[in-house]
Amino acid sequence: MIDTHCHVYNEEINNYIDIINECKKNNISLIVNGVDIKSDYEIVELSKKYDNLYAAVGINYDVIDTVDEKDLKSLEEILKNNSPIAIGEIGLDYYWTKDNKEKQIEFFKAQLELAKKYDLPVIIHSRESIQDVFDIIKTSGVRKGSMHCFSGSIEMAKEFIKLGFKIGIDGPITYKNNKKQVELVKSIDIKDILLETDSPYLSPEPNRGKENTPLNLKYIVNKIAEIKNITPNEVMDVTTKNAKELFKI
Ligand SMILES: [Zn+2]
Repeated sequence: MIDTHCHVYNEEINNYIDIINECKKNNISLIVNGVDIKSDYEIVELSKKYDNLYAAVGINYDVIDTVDEKDLKSLEEILKNNSPIAIGEIGLDYYWTKDNKEKQIEFFKAQLELAKKYDLPVIIHSRESIQDVFDIIKTSGVRKGSMHCFSGSIEMAKEFIKLGFKIGIDGPITYKNNKKQVELVKSIDIKDILLETDSPYLSPEPNRGKENTPLNLKYIVNKIAEIKNITPNEVMDVTTKNAKELFKI
């Protein structure tokens, strides 16, 4: 199995090394997402040490107030000198921060340009910003990536799929009353779904509220299997293939 979106590194999780090793024992590969230059560097170094760990590097919305042109240059240095498999996580968030919209958009566009230049897929964060994210990606020409923790409508999911994107499904699919996500998973092809945990956040049931780890992927797999009326093995096989194709790993 491949956890296509998690934050298993020092800044976020104390016992991250144990978790990486435990994942290896359980045949789980990780795509670890950075959020700023510091975490990006940490993750590329981890990806050199652990063969079940792949680096996605990017500058995310939540550090936008503290970054400038230099950070984009540093990101490009990382892309040139290392082998990250994706740019992420990047995107727009109008839920937590609206007053810096313009700067968020500027950095989002700049990183989409880098994705094109280095021919990398992108891993996208979007909250209350889905139309802007869609319009900007469409104009950018980027045609491969993952919509992480997708919370938009079914119609919007289908538009992203048409553009060449996959839909990331994580812990909230297991929450009671999450009819919206259940309908979404029903409505899209398993070939368009990626597994992710967003660890240490968004722990699935029955571990909701605790620190999340990629070892919880199985609960997401079981829930998707139940919704789509297929076996958990099928869910694992197809989503692993999806991730391998998209991220070329
Ligand atoms: Zn994340």
